Amino acid sequence: MKLWVTPEGDRWLCDECAAGIAEKIEEEKWRAAFEKQDPELRCVMCKHGDIEVWD
Ligand SMILES: [Zn+2]
Repeated sequence: MKLWVTPEGDRWLCDECAAGIAEKIEEEKWRAAFEKQDPELRCVMCKHGDIEVWD
């Protein structure tokens, strides 16, 4: 999960959701502060964690 610094504050976003809003990220100049693997973290958009596996 990556921590994104956005105009509305810091947000954890999974790679999938970040890719889905790539245009917004570009437009608003979001910056990925750092990345952390932690099962406690939940993506603000899809509410899923990093550790779950999706087929
Ligand atoms: Zn997500």
